Amino acid sequence: MAKWVYMFTEGDATMRNLLGGKGANLAEMTNLGLPVPQGFTITTEACTQYYEDGRTINDEIMGQIMEAITKMEGVTGKKFGDKENPLLVSVRSGARASMPGMMDTILNLGLNEEVVDVLAEGSGNPRWAWDCYRRFIQMYSDVVMEVGKKYFEELIDKMKEEKGVKQDVELTADDLKALAGQFKAEYKEKIGEDFPTDPKEQLMGAIKAVFRSWDNPRANVYRRDNDIPYSWGTAVNVQMMAFGNMGDDCGTGVAFTRDPATGENGLFGEFLTNAQGEDVVAGVRTPMHISEMEDKFPEAFVQFKDVCKTLESHYRDMQDMEFTVEHGKLYMLQTRNGKRTAQAALKIACDLVDEGMRTEEEAVAMIDPRNLDTLLHPQFDAAALKAAEPIAKALGASPGAACGKIVFSADDAKEWAARGEKVVLVRLETSPEDIEGMKAAQGILTVRGGMTSHAAVVARGMGRCCVSGCGDIAMDEENKKFTLAGKEYHEGDPISINGSTGNIYDGIIPTVDATIAGEFGRIMAWADKYRTMKVRTNADTPADAKKARELGAEGIGLCRTEHMFFEGNRIDAFREMICAETVEEREAALEKILPEQQGDFEKLYEALEGNPVTIRFLDPPLHEFVPTEEEDIKKLADAQGKTVEQIKTIIDGLHEFNPMMGHRGCRLAVTYPEIAKMQTKAVIRAAINVKKAHPDWNVCPEIMIPLIGDIKELKYVKKFVVETADAEIAAAGVELKYEVGTMIEIPRAALTADEIAKEADFFCFGTNDLTQMTYGFSRDDAGKFLDGYYDAKIFENDPFAKLDQTGVGKLMEMSINLGKPVNPNLHIGICGEHGGDPSSVEFCNKIGLNYVSCSPFRVPIARLAAAQAAINNVGK
Ligand code: PEP
Ligand code: MG
Repeated sequence: MAKWVYMFTEGDATMRNLLGGKGANLAEMTNLGLPVPQGFTITTEACTQYYEDGRTINDEIMGQIMEAITKMEGVTGKKFGDKENPLLVSVRSGARASMPGMMDTILNLGLNEEVVDVLAEGSGNPRWAWDCYRRFIQMYSDVVMEVGKKYFEELIDKMKEEKGVKQDVELTADDLKALAGQFKAEYKEKIGEDFPTDPKEQLMGAIKAVFRSWDNPRANVYRRDNDIPYSWGTAVNVQMMAFGNMGDDCGTGVAFTRDPATGENGLFGEFLTNAQGEDVVAGVRTPMHISEMEDKFPEAFVQFKDVCKTLESHYRDMQDMEFTVEHGKLYMLQTRNGKRTAQAALKIACDLVDEGMRTEEEAVAMIDPRNLDTLLHPQFDAAALKAAEPIAKALGASPGAACGKIVFSADDAKEWAARGEKVVLVRLETSPEDIEGMKAAQGILTVRGGMTSHAAVVARGMGRCCVSGCGDIAMDEENKKFTLAGKEYHEGDPISINGSTGNIYDGIIPTVDATIAGEFGRIMAWADKYRTMKVRTNADTPADAKKARELGAEGIGLCRTEHMFFEGNRIDAFREMICAETVEEREAALEKILPEQQGDFEKLYEALEGNPVTIRFLDPPLHEFVPTEEEDIKKLADAQGKTVEQIKTIIDGLHEFNPMMGHRGCRLAVTYPEIAKMQTKAVIRAAINVKKAHPDWNVCPEIMIPLIGDIKELKYVKKFVVETADAEIAAAGVELKYEVGTMIEIPRAALTADEIAKEADFFCFGTNDLTQMTYGFSRDDAGKFLDGYYDAKIFENDPFAKLDQTGVGKLMEMSINLGKPVNPNLHIGICGEHGGDPSSVEFCNKIGLNYVSCSPFRVPIARLAAAQAAINNVGK
């Protein structure tokens, strides 16, 4: 019989996959002898089984849960529903990877009308007993039965108004008792049944709700963003309650052993007296700094500091802990490696190396490459920032600079961002449902909540700038406006926020690019030391190439030459070329293009300082370039000496039903060799010039022919490329090596890679097209139906962002296995979007690619991911 349930005393930290992070760490803390209220963990496998059994808990699992309850009653000396010593528990989710705020929690489970009286009398604290009960009804109704929170909040607000009080804590026992009655009536009205009184029935409802929450929309989005597979499932932890809301000698807190925003070494956290855990993270009340705990609970504080030390040196990482103080006694409810900003992650990793706790390799492995993104994006311009006067200051909850137009809801943030607006989401407080809106916004500003509020934790996780707890804002969400520093702000008004200092500014403050220095530089240097795969960049302009070099690119893996024509009047000559009717007309247009291309290529070689540069020959889906505006058509007609009607006829003739599979790539070179010849001249002449200027550089152009599906295509195009190149080199009387290779982006190329390798000096996987053509999904249209695929659990990720290792990856491996034996000198890379995605980079390392190539800002991400892949590989 499978074991589905583990007491905390039966597990340990190595059992994370089975017990989830929270369960494994509760067990580990128990083993370490720390004060942990006891309980049990229902495994992640039980969650998977729940889904396999059609969202039911089968008898075997149910039986083991019941046994565990009996054991727990034995350990705690309390009993479910008991008239003397009743057991109350919390029921909390806990997946392998922590997903803060994404799934559900229920506290105070086990209460009913009789038990609440026992608690009230036994404790001599009826206020506390009724507070627990009303909270339980509220959470159970919301989480298990999906009756919206807002109905209960409305009742609380009404009660506070009637009693003339502002805070929940000012409500009396009688008020709370009356509220509990109103809550139950609300429950009955919404559900049509009485609120359940049997603790075991309550428990099973709660466990099912936690399992179900694994599949809620916000958890699904979070998993997709964080590469967490759906198949992992969540564990459920059932733990005896410790009460932070029994009076002023009680409290609850969340603390980190180092500052999660800056990485500074030292206790950092927040604390609320007379409260339960959710009050701190939900941001409903603004908590006090952890240091104040020292005055209120001196003994518990000393003990807590010891626990922090023990846990940090045990896990050798910054810990994020939840704890409760009940009548002055400390209870640990959770510990985990804390989420942190990218900046903090770098500082902590470096400090742990300096403190002798971690090796360089371990430090490199600790950083989530995806988080580097925030550091690579603009910060406020220092001079502009200095000159700007903040209108208010709140908590700098997640660093970075954000400016944009104010929006008041997550939906608006998404909608405005989709039409290209930069927005700052301003909310009273955020809830997990806001995650997509937070993602769409440049930054988040909240009125309530501390550093550990949902907004802060989630924003840090996704690297979004966030300022929280700005109590000076007088918010009117309904009418989409707020007042701050005497000014009324409306939807669309510009605002800037600084997530590092917490400052808020009226209007837009200009931003500047980030640089790699300090700890960032140290970690990247270690990454470079341990990685074996090279990292190149996809750069189309000298400016991109320069940026990429600054960010550590070791070459250009892809220059999309057609992109060099998007700007200014360059497009005119390009249009003349594609709308030419004769070879002569085309050659005339190409004559105009040649010097511009040559100039650009020279600048690229200069920027790359002798590192490899791959120039891909024209691959334009023509529809992106033909003129559509009347004015542009007229301009083209005049340039060609034709009428507008003639040009329109030519454009009509260029129309393609499926341009992505149309007259592009090498097909263009096959039909119009003069284009490839011109590009060859430009590449070779540029290389000759740069080599002359820098004799010590290794200038060896790599000419890349796109969209090859048949060896004969490559042979055909290569022939006149080589003839042209050799003629140029001979005419210049110099020596210059060059290579001609191809992209592998059509499945037929992968299937016949042994033939293609005979003619190619290198392969570069164009996984954008290879994914498109392997799946048969248009890369331009897939976005329209992928959401449906996520909902139906067919896909967990966008295959255009995260490489489909099973299918597309198989074609890649096949190409390598077929190509290398035929041409041992073949060098192989990837330049599709996947070249900057960490899990795809790991795969590329595994199959032995020489390099990955990605957009400039993803170069550091790829460097780190490549190092992690190498380190993990050695460790295996
Ligand atoms: C590719 O197809 O992966 C590629 C890099 O080329 P493009 O995106 O320009 O089609
Ligand atoms: Mg392509």
